[in-house]
Amino acid sequence: MAKQSFYNFDLTHLEECLKQQELKPYVAKQLFNWVYKKHITDFKAMSNIGKVAQETLSNVFIFDNLQIVKVLTDENKETVKFLFKLKDNNFIETVIMKFDYGYSVCVSTQVGCNMGCKFCASGTHKKIRNLETSEIVLQFIEANNWLLKNTNEHLSNIVVMGIGEPLDNFDNVVSALKIITCQHGLEIGSRHITISTCGLCNKIIDFAKALPQINIAISLHASNDAIRNKLMPINKTYPLSQLIETCKQYLEISNRRLTFEYILLDGINDSDENALELVELLKGLLCYVNLIPYNETYLSNFKRSKRVRQFFNVLNKNKLQATIRLERGTKIAAACGQLRIQHNDKEKN
Ligand code: SAH
Repeated sequence: MAKQSFYNFDLTHLEECLKQQELKPYVAKQLFNWVYKKHITDFKAMSNIGKVAQETLSNVFIFDNLQIVKVLTDENKETVKFLFKLKDNNFIETVIMKFDYGYSVCVSTQVGCNMGCKFCASGTHKKIRNLETSEIVLQFIEANNWLLKNTNEHLSNIVVMGIGEPLDNFDNVVSALKIITCQHGLEIGSRHITISTCGLCNKIIDFAKALPQINIAISLHASNDAIRNKLMPINKTYPLSQLIETCKQYLEISNRRLTFEYILLDGINDSDENALELVELLKGLLCYVNLIPYNETYLSNFKRSKRVRQFFNVLNKNKLQATIRLERGTKIAAACGQLRIQHNDKEKN
C-alpha cells in the first residue's frame, strides 16, 4: 500500500488507522504531540515510541510538504501571498494578513471552484479537485513556518476564504479544522477561525454540528433573489428564504454571531433601497454585515461601488451592525484566486 500523508489524519482517524496496524490508539496523541507541538517528523526521534512501532509507522506514513513557487510580500510585510505547487502540478494560493490582533492566514480548499459566482476570479475556472486534508493543514504549517522565520511571529487566526467552496469539500475541511483546533494538534482556538460559504444550506447545519464553535460567514452579496440569482447560481438551489431559515437553525445550534459578506458592486446591489431591503431581510438575526469593496478583476465587468460609506450609513441608521472590510493585498493580486489564474494563464501562453 502506498504511504499516506500523516497530515491527512485527524486524531480519530489516526486512532483507527493505528488499530488497523495493531498499534495502541493512545500512540495517536503521542504522535500528534511530536509532530504538531514539537515539530519532529522523524519517527526514530520519537523517544516514547517503541522501535517496532517506529518501523511500522515509517512504512505507513510520510511527512510531505507543499512546494513554494512564489512568495509575494507588500512593503510592510502586512500581506504575504504564497503560490504553492501540489504533487499533481496544480497550484493553490494562501495569504497571510497582519491585523492589530495578530496574523491571520487565508487558506484554499479546492483547486478551482464550481459555484460560478459571476464576480469571482476563482469561479471562472471550474473545480479540478478537492484539496486533501493534508493540503489544507500544510497551508497553515508552511505559512506559519515562513512567518516564524521571517518575522519571528506566528499565526493566531485562520479564515477559510481562499479558492474553493469549503462546504463542497466537507469531510476534508472538517478533518483539517479538527487537526488545527485539536489540543494535541495545532491548537488554534475555534473562535479564531472563520469559514466562508456561498450558502450550501444542508452543509451549514452539518458543519455547525461538527464544529459548533467555529465562526461562519455567509457570502450574501444581494438583498433579494432577483439580484442574487444573477450573481450567484447557488441561489437557484438555495434561495434567500431557505438561506435565512438555515441561519435561524444554525443560530439555535451554535448561538455564534453570523457574518454576512456583502460585496458592493456599482449599480448592481449598492442603492439605498438595497440597504433597506437588507435591513428587512436580516431583521432579528444575531449577525453583522461585512461590506466588501470589490476587487476588480480582468475576468469580469463589475465595477467597485462608490457608495460604500453611504450604504454603511443606511445600515447603521437602521440598527443593522456593519463593518467595512479593510483592503489588503490589492497590489500583489492577493484577491481571490487571481494569482493562480495569472500563473496558469502564463503557463498556457
Ligand atoms: N466559496 C466561499 C469562500 C471563498 S470566496 C464563499 O463563497 O464564501 C471568499 C469571499 O470573497 C466571498 O465572500 C467571495 O464572494 C468574495 N469575493 C470573491 N471575489 C471577490 C472580489 N473580486 N472582490 C472582493 N471579494 C470577492
